[in-house]
Amino acid sequence: MARAERGGARELFARLEGRACTYCDGDLVRERYKGDRAVVCVECGTPAARAP
Ligand SMILES: [Zn+2]
Repeated sequence: MARAERGGARELFARLEGRACTYCDGDLVRERYKGDRAVVCVECGTPAARAP
């Protein structure tokens, strides 16, 4: 899982959004994950990246 610094999160999320999940066939979408901004898989819920 990638961890973004404050400034790089927007770019990182934009890059990952719409990509395929590493672990299944789901797509990655922007969502909150345990209070952090994150890009998570719609199918399995695994975060590909998160940032405070
Ligand atoms: Zn997945």
